[in-house]
Amino acid sequence: MPDDPASVLAPPVSQGLPTATVFLKPKRARPFFGRHPWVLDAAVMRVEGQPADGDVVDLATHDGTFIARGLWNAESRLRVRLFTFDSGVHLNAALWHQRLASAVGLRRSLGLDGRNRAARIVNSEGDGLSGLTVDRYADFLAVQVTSLAMANRLDIFCDSLQSLLEPKGILLRGAERGLAKLEGLHLIDRLLRGTAPPGPIFIEENGLQFGVDLEEGQKTGFYLDQRENRQAAAGLAKGRRVLDMFCYSGGFGVHCAVQGQASSVLAVDSSPKATALAKANADLNGAANMAVETADAFEKMDGLRAAGERFGMVILDPPKFARNRAAIDDALRAYHRINRLAVDLLEPGGVLVTCSCSGAVLRDDFLMMLSGVAQRSTRAIQILECKGAAADHPISASCLEGEYLKCIIAHVP
Ligand code: SAH
Repeated sequence: MPDDPASVLAPPVSQGLPTATVFLKPKRARPFFGRHPWVLDAAVMRVEGQPADGDVVDLATHDGTFIARGLWNAESRLRVRLFTFDSGVHLNAALWHQRLASAVGLRRSLGLDGRNRAARIVNSEGDGLSGLTVDRYADFLAVQVTSLAMANRLDIFCDSLQSLLEPKGILLRGAERGLAKLEGLHLIDRLLRGTAPPGPIFIEENGLQFGVDLEEGQKTGFYLDQRENRQAAAGLAKGRRVLDMFCYSGGFGVHCAVQGQASSVLAVDSSPKATALAKANADLNGAANMAVETADAFEKMDGLRAAGERFGMVILDPPKFARNRAAIDDALRAYHRINRLAVDLLEPGGVLVTCSCSGAVLRDDFLMMLSGVAQRSTRAIQILECKGAAADHPISASCLEGEYLKCIIAHVP
């Protein structure tokens, strides 16, 4: 397979014509009549035609009734991703442009289109574009693809994004390594269009400024999904001593220190690159009451507890603890451990802001974990708000697997 699938854009790809029909096993069609976009290999009975990976295929019941149209990948367990349930709609450049235009229009209506704003412009299934995410950071776009079929169509997407948003540059950021492997994707970070940013990009979020490293940063550079949760945390931070654990570039901490008028903030991350960014962002916003430290969260919290330190607010935003369903029990144990430490560090009347970005850990599981922490710590935990990702990360009601971020804000008397 070529290193760069975009370089082999065959004519049928751009015209969006189906090259094969995929017949489902009997009794396996129901989720797709319910508009679920993922057809797993185990549901497929046979294929009529010889689709290349990334080709358009039709999906049919075992006896040949049309259900949907999607993109094929024999290398992935997710054999077909569906994009339309209307046989009159073709998966061609016009359709992709229409989907992107609708996604851009939604962000505009959310008020996220200011010049220096950052927003997720395309959220995969949530925008009817399974396998594609696009983040905008002021004048630049960062694109991630998690499906081979979307990688094949990068040129088409770039043309549309160029005409819709007129960015100075479009960068490709590699997908998570595990995901890429599952799809047989071999992509390297590179500039797709225009120019690369000259250095960090400065974006505005909730009236604060953040420097974003688009080329080297985690994810596509900034955790945009936490925008509204940072504001919610700041709203409760006044006069409190705040501990921002897993701070990355300081999003929560800076909000609490400046807008939230916290008495002080200690922000901690194990990555020196992250803490350098957090320190720079604290300085950029004049957060003189914010200290930043490079340390392991578990060790640091153990140490603080042993030293008898107490905080008025603890924020926990750890990395994904569960990469798949098999890892859920271990992940829940790890969540229990840090949340227990956080509760122990809270003074009476403290606020816990606790997040999980593991999609495999469901909201109910996460709440049950918190219930276990209340039991073991013998402290009451009053849940004030159950939040998720910001509105520019829509979740398709037909693909609830897209809900990954949980953010619970609780009062601990
Ligand atoms: N709260 C951040 C995002 C956090 S992402 C924001 O609002 O932008 C998770 C972070 O946890 C990453 O920055 C990663 O470097 C850090 N991390 C991972 N393992 C860690 C550990 N054991 N101790 C401390 N930080 C850790």
